[in-house]
Amino acid sequence: MSILEIGGVPVDRIAEKCGTPVYVFDEAKIEKQLADYKRYFVSDMFDTDIVYASKAFTCRAMIQKLVEAGACIDVVSGGELFIAEQGGMPMENVYFHGNNKTGEELEQALDAGVGTIVLDNLTECGILADLAEHKRKRINAMLRINPGVEAHTHEYIMTGGSNSKFGISINEKDAIAELVKRAGESEYVDFKGFHSHIGSQIFEDTAFMKATEVLISFYAEMEREYGISCSWLSLGGGFGIRYTDADKPMSVEDMCRSLIGKCEDVLKKEGVSMEKIMIEPGRSIAGEAGYTLYTVGYQKTAGDRHYIFVDGGMGDNIRPALYQAEYDADIANRMGEEKEEEYYVAGKYCESGDILIKQIMLPKKIEKGDLLVIYSTGAYGYSMASCYNGIGRAPVVFAKDGKARTVLKRETYRDLVRLETDEEVNI
Ligand SMILES: *Cc1c(COP(=O)(O)O)cnc(C)c1O
Repeated sequence: MSILEIGGVPVDRIAEKCGTPVYVFDEAKIEKQLADYKRYFVSDMFDTDIVYASKAFTCRAMIQKLVEAGACIDVVSGGELFIAEQGGMPMENVYFHGNNKTGEELEQALDAGVGTIVLDNLTECGILADLAEHKRKRINAMLRINPGVEAHTHEYIMTGGSNSKFGISINEKDAIAELVKRAGESEYVDFKGFHSHIGSQIFEDTAFMKATEVLISFYAEMEREYGISCSWLSLGGGFGIRYTDADKPMSVEDMCRSLIGKCEDVLKKEGVSMEKIMIEPGRSIAGEAGYTLYTVGYQKTAGDRHYIFVDGGMGDNIRPALYQAEYDADIANRMGEEKEEEYYVAGKYCESGDILIKQIMLPKKIEKGDLLVIYSTGAYGYSMASCYNGIGRAPVVFAKDGKARTVLKRETYRDLVRLETDEEVNI
């Protein structure tokens, strides 16, 4: 019987000092992923950037890791931009995405000196150009296009007319050319190239290879037919991670080598060049580095189910309820014990769907007070957390070399009422 350690810190110490539920990140794992992406996503033919998708998990401590590693960042709202700014991310390394950015958000981006706006449609392009001219601020722009390659975890399908809410379909060449022309009319908007993001939790390189080929060929065609020239290409994110044993992601090294090789081949084949190619990993940087610790409370047997209840649930991890995401877990103070009994791990929220894990083998005779750890909760856990049922958001602890520090505090009861007011609205 042993106790799980994260970053060299025994988790029972963290639970004792910080309470549960608590998210714990192994800092070294974040650093390793970033270093691997920086090391392997490189080419002699073009520059590269690693653009972390901050929606996976963001806060000052995380931004500092990105800055240290020389990574850039994706934001999708004024709020994420504000967090990046507060964390010290150089604004020229920010890419602002989103299918419905508001005028205020575009202004905020221009005022902050954001490097690049990833446009979604022609109207947005016009609004950005007008704002940039008005403010006399130069900004780079890219356009999100939908390459019609949809990744469904293990295979891809080609969809002629795509029904995604994001970007312009690759088939709408005239519309795309019109947008690039509109951007070109502005001396403040510098059109840099195309962006695509084909999905998430993709394990194999097939769909990425297909998308890369489609995108570069598309660009070559746009150059030939419309005289459009551009210098950047973003291949998006979505690199899969291991949540359970059923997930078999490629290593960062293999994925990067395979993507770089494909880019180089297709650029040569099409006879076009590219100044810079980017990828946007989110979960594959934060996901496996994160763990959630819970304390086991009561238990219940109902029909053929044996439930253990934990002190968190859908408020700190909505993914199982939202899209049947699966996770692996252990009893963190009884590591290495034989797993002889099947359990359902349920949360404490008032929803029948608040079940974190269905059918998992764990040691028998789990007791009230035991610590349950769920693995790979670093991405889309904290960032999707809510205070449903008046349960404040759990704190985030970073652990490294036997030391731990709280980087986000637990939301208190006071915090739950801090926005309440009785202000009159001046109609
Ligand atoms: C969500 C998203 C990503 C990151 O996806 P992951 O699955 O976390 O890697 C990258 N780019 C864009 C545009 C996204 O919307």
